Amino acid sequence: MSATILSGKEFAEAIKREVAAEIAALSFKPCLAVVRVGEDPASAVYVGSKVRTAEELGIISEHRHMPAETTQAELMRVVNELNSRDDVDGILVQLPLPPQIDEREVLEAIDPEKDVDGFHPVNVGKLWQGQRSLVPCTPAGVIEILKRSGIGIAGMNAVVIGRSNIVGKPMAALLIKESATVTICHSKTSDLAAVASQADILVAAIGRAGFVRAEHIKPGATVIDVGINNVTSEDLARELFGEDEIDKRLNTIAKRGFTLVGDVCPKDAKAKAGAFTPVPGGVGLLTVAMLMKNTIEAAKARRG
Ligand code: NAD
Repeated sequence: MSATILSGKEFAEAIKREVAAEIAALSFKPCLAVVRVGEDPASAVYVGSKVRTAEELGIISEHRHMPAETTQAELMRVVNELNSRDDVDGILVQLPLPPQIDEREVLEAIDPEKDVDGFHPVNVGKLWQGQRSLVPCTPAGVIEILKRSGIGIAGMNAVVIGRSNIVGKPMAALLIKESATVTICHSKTSDLAAVASQADILVAAIGRAGFVRAEHIKPGATVIDVGINNVTSEDLARELFGEDEIDKRLNTIAKRGFTLVGDVCPKDAKAKAGAFTPVPGGVGLLTVAMLMKNTIEAAKARRG
């Protein structure tokens, strides 16, 4: 039997509708400031989509694009200015930052009440203590997918592959909060397949195209694919995609030079999992929706 595809589109649209309705009921318009430094092409796409979505939902957005040679002091000045402004509810500094910038100093300078990415140590600490906080958008989106799909989390064995501060660690904290039994795996885990294949809920946040194969998947498991990778090789595409999808993917490679693939082999997930998120069209769509949700949470908390 083929696994259910957990499409992120419907969930992201529902969250955005809910946020828009909440904004319409407020006596003010929340404001999100997005700071981008340099010319990273992926960052430009992500920031564009964040600013566009904010505007669609009635959030005022302020896009600060600073040159690649921006100094630490210049960036800190912008963060401090946005911190001190009463009309700004959320501040997001798009990562990665150029090499001359100390990323940690910048993220720690953001007012925790405006930290809509949830990366400030105060918000990280609150998350691990199970307190209300601003939560990183991608793992928060994964929880929304699970809940809105009616997939039970409490008491389940959850395995998270990846231990980054952006995805893996907050993902584990959120799954613990939802009462799953959680294991975090990483590049030094021995016999990863033996651990992963015990998971009722398997979350892959690795950054390696199609890494998770049949031997990592427990039959009937829910597989959440956070990875976003460009695949340029037709041979790898043939390995990862089944007959139903391969022609489309090969066409995309021919046209654009690459196709987007997650950390999970879609052919294997389809054959062995109970449900899985596609790439594109899965977790990624939820990330932007959750950023909007965080912006309105921050605005409500700040302005009462
Ligand atoms: P990262 O590079 O910071 O972390 C990757 C993690 O994978 C590390 O903790 C590492 O230990 C682990 N890892 C690497 N090789 C491994 C191996 N062979 N076996 C087991 N573990 C291994 O990456 P990240 O920022 O956490 O992002 C992970 C992926 O998710 C990337 O593809 C990224 O593009 C994607 N991502 C997607 C979204 C979204 O909105 N969908 C958001 C953030 C990141």
